[in-house]
Amino acid sequence: MKVLKFGGTSVGSAQRMKEVANLVLDGEQKLLVLSAMSGTTNSLVEISNYLYKKNSDGANEVINKLEEKYRREVNELYTTDEYKAKGLDLISEHFNYIKSFTNNVFTVFEEKVVLSQGELISTGMFNLYLLEKGVNSCLIPALEFMRIDKNNEPDTTYIRENLTSILDKNQGYEIYITQGFICRNAFGEVDNLQRGGSDYTASLIGAAILADEIQIWTDIDGMHNNDPRFVENTKPVSDLSFDEAAELAYFGAKILHPTCVLPAKVNNIPVRLLNTMDPKAHGTLISASQCQKRIAAIAAKDSITAIKIKSGRMLLAYGFLRKVFEIFESYKTPIDMITTSEVGVSVTIDNSRHLDDIVDDLKKYGTVEVDKDQVIICIVGDLIASSKGYANKIFEALKDVPIRMISYGGSSHNISVLVNAKDKIEALKSLSAKLFD
Ligand code: ASP
Repeated sequence: MKVLKFGGTSVGSAQRMKEVANLVLDGEQKLLVLSAMSGTTNSLVEISNYLYKKNSDGANEVINKLEEKYRREVNELYTTDEYKAKGLDLISEHFNYIKSFTNNVFTVFEEKVVLSQGELISTGMFNLYLLEKGVNSCLIPALEFMRIDKNNEPDTTYIRENLTSILDKNQGYEIYITQGFICRNAFGEVDNLQRGGSDYTASLIGAAILADEIQIWTDIDGMHNNDPRFVENTKPVSDLSFDEAAELAYFGAKILHPTCVLPAKVNNIPVRLLNTMDPKAHGTLISASQCQKRIAAIAAKDSITAIKIKSGRMLLAYGFLRKVFEIFESYKTPIDMITTSEVGVSVTIDNSRHLDDIVDDLKKYGTVEVDKDQVIICIVGDLIASSKGYANKIFEALKDVPIRMISYGGSSHNISVLVNAKDKIEALKSLSAKLFD
């Protein structure tokens, strides 16, 4: 069975839901993972922020506006009075529930319940639509099988056992529908896989049922070889290896959530990135095979802080790097890039919440310099040590851009450079011109 995930824009209106239905109904059995309609999760975050501040008027205003939008979509989605009534009942049920939080204490637990309503509504609406069309469709609640453990990591055994048992009990349907993003935590409470987490849901499900393929449907035709917002004439990359895709997703390619790649890679399940606006387009196929001798794509990750620690004590010493890394670990701050020399080490972080404390602690070991507003530019492809000439092309392209750090060798498919935010667009454009034109 294939697992198909449709993002918020793909199910963003009654019209778009109808297009998704046309796309998936070909007689082949499928499992669909749906996001909330576009904009919904942001509105639910806004409602929660009002409720934290005990501003129920503010919350009610957003709730009513959102409910109105849903009522309009329901009227457009269904043809029969029977299903219009069912759709409106579904909307009332969820919105009455959301409204019930305006009179009570509001904590992070209630917030997670509120945030889960978007996916519950979109999947409920879509399932009703398929039933109205006479499709043999089955709604399977993610809250009954999707679960994270105490470290907020997916509990893959629980997911596999519970999902297979639900599917065993509900055999013979053409379409199974479930919610992306939402899950339960180790205590059984409603939780989620973080913003944009529906891709992760699809990949975890694909891994749990050993799907033939995981398809991520969005509104662009696959992962592009550079950022189309800044560079003209970018092209979709037809094939990527799992490792290349993971690097690109982590380093800025917005089309795929970075967590999505690992479960697919571990179980060797191909992931296809497809476009609902152009369903026949090839898109991007992510698989275990590695295209030889080519640079696949360039991505950029913004809001990076670089920290340089210089110390005479590092000279010929051992244990220095461990002490430095332990400081980052103690503030739960991941490091992205690292470069070292005999007298210093530079690292980058993208979460600068504990920056001041980290810098204070690092000062015990040497002088510390901090550069904010940096960007990691990541060039991804078949860059094994035996391939010649790529480094030359990359640095030729960047000859007019000041470079703060360079990293190669951590993997054989990635060269990363750190530049000032103001030089990002120039760097992306010159790299595209040199590497792809
Ligand atoms: N609805 C969630 C969000 O907007 C999850 C998703 O769409 O992937 O973040």
